[in-house]
Amino acid sequence: MSRHALRSPRELERLLARIDGRGYKAYRDLHGRYDFEDFLLSIDHVQSDPFASPSRVSVQIPFSRTGLPRETIEGTSRIVATEDFLLRSLVRNARKEESRSGRAGSGSGKSGRILVLEPGPALLKRSAVRIDAAQLEARFRVGLPAFGRRIAGEPARRLLLESLPRLIRSSLFYSSLDADALKRWADVSEDADALREALPRLGLVAFVADGAILPRASGIATDPLPASEAVPFASPESLRVSISTPHSGILSGMGVPRGVTLIVGGGYHGKSTLLNALMHGVYNHIPGDGRERVVTDSTAVKIRAEDGRSVRGVDISPFINNLPFRRDTTAFTTDDASGSTSQAASIIEAVEAGAEVLLIDEDTSATNFMIRDHRMQKLIRTEDEPITPFVDRVRQLFSARGVSTILVLGGSGDYLDVADTVIGLFQYRVRDLTPEAKRIAGENPTGRERECAEDFPEPRRRIPIRGGISARRGRHDAKIRARNRKEISFGRDEIDLSSVEQIVETAQTRAIGDAVHRATALMDGRRTMTEILDAVMAEAEKGLDYIALVKSGEYAAFRRQELAAAINRHRGLSTASR
Ligand code: ADP
Ligand code: MG
Repeated sequence: MSRHALRSPRELERLLARIDGRGYKAYRDLHGRYDFEDFLLSIDHVQSDPFASPSRVSVQIPFSRTGLPRETIEGTSRIVATEDFLLRSLVRNARKEESRSGRAGSGSGKSGRILVLEPGPALLKRSAVRIDAAQLEARFRVGLPAFGRRIAGEPARRLLLESLPRLIRSSLFYSSLDADALKRWADVSEDADALREALPRLGLVAFVADGAILPRASGIATDPLPASEAVPFASPESLRVSISTPHSGILSGMGVPRGVTLIVGGGYHGKSTLLNALMHGVYNHIPGDGRERVVTDSTAVKIRAEDGRSVRGVDISPFINNLPFRRDTTAFTTDDASGSTSQAASIIEAVEAGAEVLLIDEDTSATNFMIRDHRMQKLIRTEDEPITPFVDRVRQLFSARGVSTILVLGGSGDYLDVADTVIGLFQYRVRDLTPEAKRIAGENPTGRERECAEDFPEPRRRIPIRGGISARRGRHDAKIRARNRKEISFGRDEIDLSSVEQIVETAQTRAIGDAVHRATALMDGRRTMTEILDAVMAEAEKGLDYIALVKSGEYAAFRRQELAAAINRHRGLSTASR
């Protein structure tokens, strides 16, 4: 029988009866599509044994059959939110089906597992559920049941002919969904877009709504601190702006203006928590997250020191010059960057990748990169110090390049001279300290001298060269695996993304890994890094399948800034500059 022919559930049942008890390989006969009338089940890839990664299946439903109202797919924002909502419903019901079938003890290896991509709190485009005007498609994995290495026909029948149809019908059809919740999902997403879109017009780079819950339940958690323990956000009057939204009327909150903004305050008073919320504000969040109405310019990049990282051909000369032995810093390369050189490189790379806002926290910065006070200037003459501290460049970045910076700082008042806005945190409550900070800066000159010329020099553009990065391994042309959110095994190399904080899901890491591979194909010694990022992002925007090596439900959308971060951390990258 042709694997493209549509088969009936009855035929699937007969097939399972026929291969019952045979060796696991006979499951390959299931490959193909089955017509369940209200949906199509497609068995796309059959696992090689019960212990391997479970089999990939997908489900297609004509859009008209889902019963979803047209509005749910009006505009990208609503589509993404609806897809996200359906995915969560699939995840929840898959767990129910698993426990109902009591899969423990039901077979060997991954027998009976139903694995659906688990989303975090961000609303992201993901390949697990996709809707357009024609159809809804869901992709996930099932562990085809076995006893030992023999096909367990009856459990397989229950899984494919009972559990799966129940799962699909309870998760993906409008009639079985909470319609109000679905609408709220899409409304929240559209409101967040409206807030973010209003930023440029208001001269802002971020907005934090009054009432937002910024702290998380723990240092590693993504869910909010319970309302009873969290101090809701409240804007100081002088920074308060109102923005109108399509579904929640006019929302008030704190606007963070373009330029240089300091977040100051005592230790443990909530500075990093505010900056973290801003860093996540490049994404929309689900209802209940607490940060649904915290939005940041979508190009914002969190920058941190990352000693030990690899740096390839980056022009860090605006920050670092005259290294011992006259090492070139206009095309700086190292396998083992220091805190300051890594932070300098990350800033230049972020701007190269289109960042118009930098987010920096003193907790994760190199002190000698951030500051050098008057006394130290006297002790070590400028000629003997390669580093031009950030305090001398942060204003220029804005005036010459239009790049704003939001900086958490509790320890150095030298920045008061260069700040446009100073936000103070007192027991998690925000005050506008700008006038006071300006007065103090005026009355207490630091005596330090700027260590560089007036202008921020244009960094040299990088041109990646062919051949340095390869995903090849053994007999595989491309062997790429996201080990977890922070690590990609790429051919025979590893890409360490542990300091790239704005990757929020492993599914993004997976997509980024495959996108790096796409990028390498474009490294021809002519295209600049920026042009390569443009080209790969244009493909990714058409759909995650365009860059994915495998057609699976395990990819999530990512930003060009994180793609750049991954390419930049590949130790094989080699570049020329122009
Ligand atoms: P800082 O950076 O100023 O030292 P953090 O942002 O790390 O402070 O916050 C210190 C602690 O206070 C964290 O455990 C954080 O979860 C908690 N926290 C921050 N903001 C709030 C808030 N609005 N309400 C309650 N707890 C908060
Ligand atoms: Mg902190």
